[in-house]
Amino acid sequence: MPVLVMKFGGTSVGDLDRIRNAAEKVRREVERGHDVIVVVSAMSGKTNELVGWVEQTSPLFDAREYDAVVSSGENVTAGLMALTLQEMDVPARSWQGWQVPLKTTSAHSAARIEEIPRANIDQKFAEGMRVAVVAGFQGISPEGRITTLGRGGSDTTAVAFAAAFDAVRCDIYTDVDGVYTTDPRIEDKARKLDRIAFEEMLELASLGAKVLQTRSVELAMRYKVKLRVLSSFEDTDDNSGTLVCAEEDIVEQNVVSGVAYSRDEAKMTLISVADRPGIAAAIFGPLSRAGVNVDMIVQNISEEGRTDMTFSCPVNQVARAADAMEKAKAAGEINFHGLVADTDVAKVSVVGIGMRSHAGVAARMFDALAAEGINIKVITTSEIKISVLIDRKYMELAVQALHDAFGLDKAA
Ligand code: ADP
Ligand code: ASP
Ligand code: MG
Repeated sequence: MPVLVMKFGGTSVGDLDRIRNAAEKVRREVERGHDVIVVVSAMSGKTNELVGWVEQTSPLFDAREYDAVVSSGENVTAGLMALTLQEMDVPARSWQGWQVPLKTTSAHSAARIEEIPRANIDQKFAEGMRVAVVAGFQGISPEGRITTLGRGGSDTTAVAFAAAFDAVRCDIYTDVDGVYTTDPRIEDKARKLDRIAFEEMLELASLGAKVLQTRSVELAMRYKVKLRVLSSFEDTDDNSGTLVCAEEDIVEQNVVSGVAYSRDEAKMTLISVADRPGIAAAIFGPLSRAGVNVDMIVQNISEEGRTDMTFSCPVNQVARAADAMEKAKAAGEINFHGLVADTDVAKVSVVGIGMRSHAGVAARMFDALAAEGINIKVITTSEIKISVLIDRKYMELAVQALHDAFGLDKAA
């Protein structure tokens, strides 16, 4: 029987009624003749609570134990979903990551999927099971320890299963009815897109649009998975939601397709470091080894052989970054006069494959921000995106101004 993957995010399984509602959608697909792999997230808020407990217990926590704790939310919903389906007379069984086994690298808290052997689940399908309910976000390392795939990782679990089981489609059910030109929660003029290109979705996701985890889009692109985002709260059919697809399959093209933001950024500046060959390696090597995800980097003009180096990273990695820099200084690898962290910044980005062939996008972006009196602290660009770092208090305003400036507002 054709396999369909259906993923339900945190709010879609937020309580027992919602789990029943999701199970109802699954039952309909079983009745239509699919074998279904359901991937579930933890109930909404649960993973945040678990992360909070870890951080309170151990600020520079051991990532193996972080994974042991934060993966547990998905175990609960997987079992409850299987029970709910059984109550509806749908033959269902739950699977934790290690039981599949979903094999990953040992990069705890940000593990990558290496292999999903089909045998165990295929055998159960052959025996008459119609739904395999898989706990998202988790796997098992070569050392036999539980791993997690990074926040939002259930999306990636879903796409990886769709690829491994040659699924007809991977449906991501969530609390919005598709992918929008920007987060509909901060811009009510955001427009739902019927289709979006893989490349654009990849940029939007990596720049903060959490509707899909970045890695899930990468996998869908690589393995040609038919990926769709749709609402778990509305009646849906085969045409609902947003299809993430190849660029060639998109008719209407805008220069800018979407605006993304990331609230949880920090800007760190090392004041007065020696400007010499190898200094960037001496700074960013230790940061990388400490697990700090450095994003934007700016080096000032040097004066009398010294310069300032600024970089951005997620705000919850500031302590880790500062620790790595102080240790490198103590070891004599680098020398700086001060370390300043600005934890009140946000990143706002515009994305569009049309940028490849249109000039003037940056100028229009900077004009729109200037018109609102928003100061830009750091800028980075790539072929299909421009990002700026600004004060966090202007983030919503910047998103709305850019959405308007690039003609993305829906018709009134
Ligand atoms: P789930 O728990 O189902 O995985 P998430 O909270 O991870 O859901 O992702 C869905 C959320 O993504 C939406 O509620 C919305 O606020 C946010 N979002 C951000 N950018 C976009 C966008 N461009 N289009 C749609 N949703 C977006
Ligand atoms: N529960 C995990 C998280 O909140 C994974 C997911 O929902 O995709 O990040
Ligand atoms: Mg999510």
